[in-house]
Amino acid sequence: MAAKKNTTERIYCNQCRGKTVHRLVKRMNDSGTDDETGFWWSTTFDMLQCGGCREVLLRRRFDFSENAEPEIRIFPPPMSRYLPDWRYDIPAKMRVLLEEIYRSLDATNVRLPMMGARTLVDTLVVEKVGDVGTFEDKLREMEKQGFISRANREVLSAAFDAGSATSHRSHAFSPEEVDSVMDIVENMLQAVYVLPDVAKKLKKATPARPPRPQKSSRATGSVPSQVASLRNRRKKKKKKKRKK
Ligand SMILES: [Zn+2]
Repeated sequence: MAAKKNTTERIYCNQCRGKTVHRLVKRMNDSGTDDETGFWWSTTFDMLQCGGCREVLLRRRFDFSENAEPEIRIFPPPMSRYLPDWRYDIPAKMRVLLEEIYRSLDATNVRLPMMGARTLVDTLVVEKVGDVGTFEDKLREMEKQGFISRANREVLSAAFDAGSATSHRSHAFSPEEVDSVMDIVENMLQAVYVLPDVAKKLKKATPARPPRPQKSSRATGSVPSQVASLRNRRKKKKKKKRKK
């Protein structure tokens, strides 16, 4: 089937981070039937281009006579969250792990990203405070050394519990829960590796305060009106106090 001219539809664009008008660039179709069973199937590939950023995606639609609904997959899949910009500021092995977690999130998985998040927390804690006992002990040591606040330790502990539940009991999390755990883990990474550097840079970039001019009983030069009126009010107050 050839692509119809000017065929457009609104689809989620990962680059534009929202639904945008996509133009059908090319359509490929393959279909077949089985005379014996009466089954038929059809596979359609649509190549679609975003009208905003011109990014291209591929959509595969599979129709089968025995299925009530068509099976639709999009490559690359729509993203639920985006890799943080500061990922290059964290150790390479953790960045690679974080990227892997995101790739499994893209496929709308929940268990694999949670297992990855747990491994990421483990790696981070061992790197910062070493192997100092149970996971709880490690977190307490992180808190003692000032890497995390008490509140952060508690949420991290929750994240780890979540992680072990995923690994050991095959608990399926909702996408919202996965999102929360990812928030917690990313906050930790950012607090440990990224923010201290940002703080240092900010300190460097902030000009030192000029020294306060020496106090003198009389103002020199012309006094701006606002300063003058405030000075007069203060003087009046002092006089009133003296009268009392
Ligand atoms: Zn776009």
